[in-house]
Amino acid sequence: MRPHYSRITRLIILNSLVLFLFLVSGLNSAVDANIQKKQKQKPNIVVFLVDDMGVMDTSVPFLTDAKGQPKRYPLNDFYITPSMERLAKQGIRFNNFYAMSVCSPTRISIMTGQNAARHHATNWINPTKNNRGPQGPPEWNWEGLKKNDITLARLLQKNGYETIHVGKGHFGARDFPGANPANLGFDINIAGASFGAPGSYYGEKKYGLGTRRAHHAVPHLEKYHGTETFLTEAITIEANAAVTAAVEADKPFFLYMAHYAVHAPFDSDPRFAAHYKNSDKPKAAQAFATLIEGMDKSLGDILDQIEKLGVAENTLVFFLGDNGSDAPLGHQHAVACAAPLRGKKGAHYEGGMRVPFIAAWAKSNPGNPNQKRLPIPADTIQTQTAAVQDLFPTILNFTGTKSPEKHVVDGLRLDKLLTGNPDSSREQTFLMHYPHSPHRSNYFTSYRNGDWKVIYHYVPSKDSEGSHYQLYNLAADPFEQNNLADSKPKQLRKMMQQLIASMESHNGLYPVTKDGSKPLRPKLP
Ligand code: CA
Repeated sequence: MRPHYSRITRLIILNSLVLFLFLVSGLNSAVDANIQKKQKQKPNIVVFLVDDMGVMDTSVPFLTDAKGQPKRYPLNDFYITPSMERLAKQGIRFNNFYAMSVCSPTRISIMTGQNAARHHATNWINPTKNNRGPQGPPEWNWEGLKKNDITLARLLQKNGYETIHVGKGHFGARDFPGANPANLGFDINIAGASFGAPGSYYGEKKYGLGTRRAHHAVPHLEKYHGTETFLTEAITIEANAAVTAAVEADKPFFLYMAHYAVHAPFDSDPRFAAHYKNSDKPKAAQAFATLIEGMDKSLGDILDQIEKLGVAENTLVFFLGDNGSDAPLGHQHAVACAAPLRGKKGAHYEGGMRVPFIAAWAKSNPGNPNQKRLPIPADTIQTQTAAVQDLFPTILNFTGTKSPEKHVVDGLRLDKLLTGNPDSSREQTFLMHYPHSPHRSNYFTSYRNGDWKVIYHYVPSKDSEGSHYQLYNLAADPFEQNNLADSKPKQLRKMMQQLIASMESHNGLYPVTKDGSKPLRPKLP
């Protein structure tokens, strides 16, 4: 029997139906808008910077054989870095990636896009005194970054990013604005200060507070004092909380995660000590390996959190070291600490300045609009040279962030290299300038162009490294065993001409004569 409705009832039913359809369609368009909004969102950026980690301090093989295939060396089997393996598997890694040979120069290069020869912070910054060295350039930038300097963080902040600094700062001396990352464009500063080495990695020791290393006590971590929380773990928890807050506030984030690890003091991380106690390496090297593994766990924890927050496919991760390895495994100029590369942190050899570099989307999704703009191939090795100052123009361009024209940028965009292709528009060069002493190598400039590398020593040193020039062919002699300075005079002269031209174009500062009256300009052979 057909239901019998009154006219009023029919009207109510009709109105309800219209209202229902209206609500459903409204709901749908809200969902659509939300998806569209998420897709249009600016990519989140993570710069994961490890202190004093060289290209060999990992289980991920970066070096390649003659066919371009990754080649393992014994150090790759000593270190345990599963999270780096995970990141490398979903992204591209570079095996000719350069950093400056010590801490502050690299950190300021990342922030400014300039080679240290140009920004003039050419030595690590001693928080309390000018450490230019007896013949260092008097005008070198020992104060570090200034309050009004153009920085990557400030530009991203202006472009709507939540800018998060976690870990080591080391951008400026203690009594200057650069000591505090909050003065440099970071909305949040957790644990960043003027010094480079932590007082202690142990929560039980309050990260140095109240110890004889109290002048390096890591700030802002009081809630972990007296607990067993290792420094690497404490700042990881803090970083994840800050990222979570940014995502909940619906803001794109720039996380500058700068680990104190694996810088000295080599405090053994008890969570990982058992993995190395049976190795044939000295105790300090075992402790160094635990710092590496703790840093690696941090990487995994941050990747996991970003995935949990649902923003992984919109998050671009750059992993890198800030100078060559400081593994305590042998003499600074030997094939030891970064074997098979020669040298370590501070040295003029490749082991002093080659660092691991991995770029990857935190989760691959080729359909994501941002990933369509920058498709990064999985498990790939890029062999062209690149360097720390390249991050600045790369990140700014990709996030649609403008840099003032007056600000000189030495770095070159990495976009093409990140997609796994060669980039013929880039010069295969790297200028590394260290006009100071004392460190592991004193008063030197090195310049690489393609297969060739020249090293100029401004002041003869006492040890066997006393020659003024060294010349290596890195294709034939990647581990710098055969100095061709005497046997290839024409090539030496050509490379020195290029080194001098590069120094001039960067407006570099030279060491000075003993009486301080004149700059010691590099001489042609
Ligand atoms: Ca460093």
